[in-house]
Amino acid sequence: KPRPKAAPQGPQAVPGVARIIAVASGKGGVGKSTIAANLACALAAEGRRVGLLDADVYGPSQPRMLGVSGRPASPDGKTILPLRNHGVTMMSLGLMTNDDQAVVWRGPMLMGALQQMMMQVQWGALDVLIVDLPPGTGDVQLTLTQKFVVDGAIIVSTPQDVALLDARKGIDMFRQMKTPILGMIENMSTHICSNCGHEEHLFGHGGVAAEADKLGVPLLAEIPLHLDIRTTSDGGAPIVVAKPDSPQAQAFREVARGL
Ligand code: ADP
Repeated sequence: KPRPKAAPQGPQAVPGVARIIAVASGKGGVGKSTIAANLACALAAEGRRVGLLDADVYGPSQPRMLGVSGRPASPDGKTILPLRNHGVTMMSLGLMTNDDQAVVWRGPMLMGALQQMMMQVQWGALDVLIVDLPPGTGDVQLTLTQKFVVDGAIIVSTPQDVALLDARKGIDMFRQMKTPILGMIENMSTHICSNCGHEEHLFGHGGVAAEADKLGVPLLAEIPLHLDIRTTSDGGAPIVVAKPDSPQAQAFREVARGL
């Protein structure tokens, strides 16, 4: 599907990468990285060649979620070799900084870092490159959508009004940048007790479905707040890998099949 090119020099493609899909959220802490990690693993489980770029510069969490560590090698001093786990080729700014080092980069440095991660990492041939964005609508989002051909964005939100308000701004930004919105994912949709299976709507329910309907974008999934989702991610193997038969893993697989 050819898309109109917006930026002056025109957005570029990443060699070997067929599609770029951004995972975004208006607010931090809504589970964007968790969703990105599980979608990447689900795509790999579907047999897709998938890459994951952790561009959440302020809180890179993909190395922990995907269970990778160590500094990526650069044999030629120009390109960077990505790491790989669970069938996912991955790179994170978190692997280039010390764990407890605060990122105090200004806009131009962020833009340079993103450009480098996209173009200098040896991604190889990929069907999909998932980009885990920082929350909000800042320099990284603008650079990605201006400089690269982004095929679609997935917006993650919790059902609360505050989170939704920020998600709306994110959707508006992608629309302005002419990036197609693939859909929204409601995370922490309901709470499922890991002891008794009781389901409770902690943050209200259906908020994201109503919003998606209003904005005319698909609701891709409703993911519950479940202890297993956190513990598996903390353990370096997202629930799609660690508990593939769970309903949560199945929900991610279903979204991946539609991408
Ligand atoms: P974000 O990328 O939006 O900042 P994270 O993906 O880092 O958010 O998630 C924040 C925390 O919430 C993490 O500890 C993660 O394991 C946990 N978490 C995210 N989604 C869920 C969920 N559906 N159920 C349980 N814990 C979750």
